[in-house]
Amino acid sequence: MEAEKIIAQLESILGGDHVRTDDASRTQFAEDLYFSGPSPLAVVAPRSIEETQEAIGACTNAGIALLPRGGGLSYTGGYVQREEDAVPAVVLDTRRLDRIVDVNPDNMTVTVEAGCTWESVMTATAEHGLRATMFGPSTGRYSTIGGSLSNNCMFFGSAKTGTAADAVLGLEVVSADGAVVVTGSGAIKNSVPFFRNNGPDMTGLFLNDAGGLGIKVAATLRLEKIPAGQATASFSFASFETLIPAIRAIGQSGLASECLGVGPAPLGETAVNAPSLHVVCEGWTQQIADAQLAAVVEMIGAAGTAIDPVVPNFIRGNPFSFVQSPLDAKGRMQIWTHGVFPLGRVTDAYDGFMSVLRDQHTDMTALDIDASMSFACAGQAMMVEPVLYWHGQAKKLHHSGMTPVENPAPEDADAEHRDSRVRIIRDAFAAMMDNLGAAHMQYGRFYSYASVTNDETVSLLRNVKRAMDPDNLVNPGALGL
Ligand SMILES: Cc1cc2nc3c(=O)[nH]c(=O)nc-3n(C[C@H](O)[C@H](O)[C@H](O)COP(=O)(O)OP(=O)(O)OC[C@H]3O[C@@H](n4cnc5c(N)ncnc54)[C@H](O)[C@@H]3O)c2cc1C
Repeated sequence: MEAEKIIAQLESILGGDHVRTDDASRTQFAEDLYFSGPSPLAVVAPRSIEETQEAIGACTNAGIALLPRGGGLSYTGGYVQREEDAVPAVVLDTRRLDRIVDVNPDNMTVTVEAGCTWESVMTATAEHGLRATMFGPSTGRYSTIGGSLSNNCMFFGSAKTGTAADAVLGLEVVSADGAVVVTGSGAIKNSVPFFRNNGPDMTGLFLNDAGGLGIKVAATLRLEKIPAGQATASFSFASFETLIPAIRAIGQSGLASECLGVGPAPLGETAVNAPSLHVVCEGWTQQIADAQLAAVVEMIGAAGTAIDPVVPNFIRGNPFSFVQSPLDAKGRMQIWTHGVFPLGRVTDAYDGFMSVLRDQHTDMTALDIDASMSFACAGQAMMVEPVLYWHGQAKKLHHSGMTPVENPAPEDADAEHRDSRVRIIRDAFAAMMDNLGAAHMQYGRFYSYASVTNDETVSLLRNVKRAMDPDNLVNPGALGL
């Protein structure tokens, strides 16, 4: 079917206003915060699950691929096709699927449509004194439940309860033919979504799948009572070598709700800058939260020096607005490249990242590229994440995706070299992590999945993909499938 016919069909399903074919929209939705790809035929935004099913069926019948997108705040090509293997596609903007379906304090569950933001979920549940056990990434004002569960994500509550995937009790996922597959106890006739492990864990199959196995249209999350007690602390360390044992011990203890270690990467003169560690403990009562924090302080001992906890207080005071922009405070580009490691391998991960940065340091200095390191507890795992900062040209999404900030674009002859050096460093980080057996969130089309995973495991997953999407039209290429 020619493009005009499928566009006309989508317009009849969704209404003309929700099928965008203008060049500006198509160009904007062909980019994430880092990658750019070929323009889609259209950007479509269904309002209901039924409209989503119909639109997906219409596209796949016509041999058109679907690229699902939520808030769009990724940087691993999750919804951006590569030029070399691109096929005609439509971007499915899920943000109008924004209904809170059911807040259920009896069952301690919340069911929402996939385009809801974490902030809207928090607002709805907080009215009942409840929140999701992992209650959002720092971008929660803009990022969606569907995008976050397809990437997996972590931040609020993660040190205690793990990643967003750990908070999910069930999903509704649309397959390539437009059928809705329900996972968990919600799939039992006459039941409701309240229990994930009903038989084999079908929910887990679709979490962290980069949207390659199907389009999520609804999710049920586990709720907990918002703790009455909260205690925060921050510490300065002489080096990352002294910070790492402390954050590892806190991760092992399960005492903190959030625990983050950050600081400039110790390269050249910045080696004198001390990294800092920020901790939030929570408890049923203030007394319990204080006791947990006291145990953390004891654990850190003389390794860290207590400093004013302005960072954790600010984060908890402004949970979904403490990060304002994908650009840094100076308006520079910044890019994150992470790995998830077992607690016993955090030092190896740090050494690996630092060895890449030391190899690159001369070029980084010449091109004015800075780097920082960060560590964040995610249940019994640790996310280790270097961030690169450079003067570069922001994309439209850097301004439209979150709060716009000024971005003094570089006009010097080094701009192109800077961009390509950042690419080289990121690729070196990714290769180093493949050697260290890192796991990832936000796989998209950037991190290795199939090439570093057992053949038998990948083969089973490919069979699931074939069952959900026989013609490879649902986010083709995502997760390397
Ligand atoms: C400044 C900044 C701060 C950040 N902080 C954090 C943080 O604290 N923690 C963290 O983990 N991440 C963080 N991120 C990364 C990002 O915000 C998160 O991964 C977020 O959860 C992405 O959600 P989204 O709705 O924007 O997803 P998108 O970028 O729109 O999509 C992500 C992936 O999911 C797929 N997808 C989207 N919707 C669906 C759907 N309904 N069904 C199937 N597939 C779908 C897409 O194809 C893509 O592969 C940050 C990013 C920025 C720019």
